Amino acid sequence: VAQYRLERVLIIGLGLIGGSFAKALRTRFCVREVVGADRSMDECRLGLELGVIDRIAEDLPAEVGAADLVVLAVPVKAMETVLEQIRPFLKLQTLVTDVGSTKGNLVTAARRIFGHLPATFIPGHPIAGAEKSGVRASDADLFEHHKVILTPLPETDPNATLELARLWQSVGAEVLQMEVDRHDEVLAATSHLPHLLAFSLVDTLAREEENLDIFRYAAGGFRDFTRIAASDPTMWHDICVANRDAILAQIDRYTAGVSRLRGAIAQSDSEGMLGIFTRAKAARDHFT
Ligand code: NAD
Repeated sequence: VAQYRLERVLIIGLGLIGGSFAKALRTRFCVREVVGADRSMDECRLGLELGVIDRIAEDLPAEVGAADLVVLAVPVKAMETVLEQIRPFLKLQTLVTDVGSTKGNLVTAARRIFGHLPATFIPGHPIAGAEKSGVRASDADLFEHHKVILTPLPETDPNATLELARLWQSVGAEVLQMEVDRHDEVLAATSHLPHLLAFSLVDTLAREEENLDIFRYAAGGFRDFTRIAASDPTMWHDICVANRDAILAQIDRYTAGVSRLRGAIAQSDSEGMLGIFTRAKAARDHFT
């Protein structure tokens, strides 16, 4: 007889991440039943057809009341609305988590909606993704060997965090814990800034119509650097709005760095240029 970690998980938002988590839980027999909800009935039906979920949540309030864990996997901007929707139906012991790319905004919203932070509320963020979206792109192995950051709060019950951490581990993820603000700063530097640079570089070049032609001559370096510029524009808009201050700080830091490099090039300062390139290469070699 299979030993399920949890009986019933309700996943709200059956896109790439919600769908992948659902599929990962199902294929590894981590939970008895995965129920899916999405504002798009087409995504729900497709999820059922593709075996991503066991069942569609037809009656959301009843499903929220019957779940052991509710996972919010909607766009960052929709988190607050969904939290507001489910709040009246949540049982005291039900675990609640999310997969959003930013955490501070969610915690602020939760504080407002609940009036306090429930002990079973554990914000989370899987550091795994793709440039694709929608349930069709979901992948049961997406989290395998990837990190998941949980940002429990002082109000969070450590047992709730442990339970959720074990669930993520059972789909192959490595779980880390971080404070909410630290998460938003670190992600602004390591994920948000590179995505914005890729978007901005491609936009800058593509803006000049005659430049569209130069993409034909682009080699591997350009392809590697700009792969993430094919990510979902709405998702990145939401992230910029939600993590504005931390992102602005990183853009300023980066702008100063580019200016230093520009200065070294303008002054034919070989030592300056080589210093930047050598330090960067050493850092890059170190982490691969
Ligand atoms: P997605 O577009 O593939 O899926 C989002 C789903 O949410 C869609 O099916 C949409 O119909 C549904 N939805 C939107 N508003 C809703 C609402 N109010 N109620 C119910 N359903 C609603 O997006 P995704 O890539 O799966 O991203 C989901 C979350 O995961 C986002 O918060 C994102 O920041 C985070 N995330 C994404 C990645 C990535 O690389 N894509 C990585 C880590 C975390």
